[in-house]
Amino acid sequence: MTATHDVVIIGGGAAGITTAARLKRAGITNIAVIEPSETHYYQPMWTLVGGGEASIAPTARPQSSVIPKGVTWIKAAATGVDPEANTVSLDNGDEVHYSWLVVAAGIQLNWDGVPGLVDTLGRNRVSSNYSYDLAPQTWEAIKSTTSGTAVFTQPNGPIKCAGAPQKIAYLAADHWQRTGVLKDMDIHLILPTPGMFGVPEFAAGLTKVAERYGINVHFESHMTAVDGDAHTLQITKIPTGEVESMHFDMMHVTPPQSAPDWIKASPLADPNSPFGYMEVDKFTLQHTRFPNIFGLGDCTNTPNSKTAAAVRKQSPVLVANLVAARKAQAATKSYNGYASCPLITAKGKCIMAEFDYDLNRTPTFPMDMTKERWDMYQVKKNGLPILYWNFMLKGVA
Ligand code: FAD
Repeated sequence: MTATHDVVIIGGGAAGITTAARLKRAGITNIAVIEPSETHYYQPMWTLVGGGEASIAPTARPQSSVIPKGVTWIKAAATGVDPEANTVSLDNGDEVHYSWLVVAAGIQLNWDGVPGLVDTLGRNRVSSNYSYDLAPQTWEAIKSTTSGTAVFTQPNGPIKCAGAPQKIAYLAADHWQRTGVLKDMDIHLILPTPGMFGVPEFAAGLTKVAERYGINVHFESHMTAVDGDAHTLQITKIPTGEVESMHFDMMHVTPPQSAPDWIKASPLADPNSPFGYMEVDKFTLQHTRFPNIFGLGDCTNTPNSKTAAAVRKQSPVLVANLVAARKAQAATKSYNGYASCPLITAKGKCIMAEFDYDLNRTPTFPMDMTKERWDMYQVKKNGLPILYWNFMLKGVA
C-alpha cells in the first residue's frame, strides 16, 4: 500500500510533534506523522525522577493526545527512505510517498554497546535515567545505598542531554549529604571529555560542585565492560587505551548512543559522522544533498547539544525554510545552535546553561546564570514541563 502526503514527518517525539503543529499553523493541510509508539514521553523530567524529586507517570501521555488535530498518524516505524523515489518504507511493508520529508526520529540507545550491561540493568543496583522503566529504579538504588562506591558513567560520543550523567551524580550526593552518609560514600564520575562542560563559565561552576561533594572525576575515560554480579566495571582511558577495574556498590549508566541503524544505513546519513547522524546544513536544517528533505532533533549531525531546548529553537527555523523552499525561495531563517541544559546540582539548585554553536552564553534571563540558583530549579522542575506540553508541542513557543 502506498499513501501520499504533502509533508511526511518521521518521528512523533519532541521534534516531530512540535514541527507538525508549526507546519499546520503555517497553512499546510496534508501532513502525516510516522510514529510507532502509543506513548509520548517528556524525557527531561527523568533526571528528577531518578533523583527522587518527581514521579514517572506524568512524564508519559498518550501519543493520540499530542498529535495535532487534522494530522494523519501512521502507526508504524520507518525502515528506510528512498530520496530518488520520495518514499519512506515502513516495518509493516507499506510505503509512504512524500513531496517534503522531515526526519525527527531521535537517537538510538545502544544498551548492548557495553558488554555485560544488558544483563545487569535493573539489578545489582545498576540503573539508568535514560529509560522510562529504569528511572524510578535509580532513586531506589540511591536510597538503598548508604555506604560504599557509587559510579556514574557517560559514554564516548554525542548523547542526548550531555549534562544528565552529571546531574544525577549531584542529586545522589546531595541526598547522601542530607542523610548524613556522604562521608561513607566514595563517588566516581566517569566522563569522556577533557573537562566538566564545553562552556568554560559553566565548567568552573561544576568543578566546584564536584569538589564540594568530594566526587572523583575521571576525565577522557569511559566504561567498556561491566560484571553486575561481581559488582565490577572496566574503565578505559580514551587517549591511551589503558584499562582499570573498579568495584561499585551502585551505578548510574548512560548508554552509548548513535543515529538509528536505519538512518546510518540510508543515503540520508552523513558519511563523515562516525555515529551515522543525518546530514543537514547546520543553519538551515535542510539536507545538504536532497533539497526536499529536512531534519531536526537528536538524529541529525548538527553540532549543538542534543536537547528538547534545541528542538524548540530548531523547529521554527525548519518550518520557515521548508515553507520558503516550497515556493522555490531561498532559506529565510538560520539556527544558531542554541541549546539549554539545566544543570541540577542539588535539590533546589540549578545552573541554567544556555549557549550556541560557538559556546557563547545565550541567557534567557538577566540574572547571573553561572551560579547555582533556586529560581532556575523551579523553572526546570515546574516551568519547563508546562512550556513543553502546553506551548511547544502546540507550535506556539
Ligand atoms: P525524541 O523526543 O526521543 O523522539 C523521537 C521519536 O521518534 C520517538 O517518539 C520515537 O518513538 C520515534 N521513532 C524512533 N524510531 C522511529 C522510526 N523508525 N520511525 C518512526 N518513528 C521513530 N532535553 C532538554 O532540553 N533539557 C533537559 O534537561 C533534558 N534532560 C534529559 C534527561 C534525560 C535522562 C533524557 C533521556 C533526555 C533529556 N533531554 C533533555 C533530551 C530530550 O529529551 C531530547 O533531546 C528530545 O526529546 C529530542 O527530541 P527528538 O524528537 O529528536 O527525539
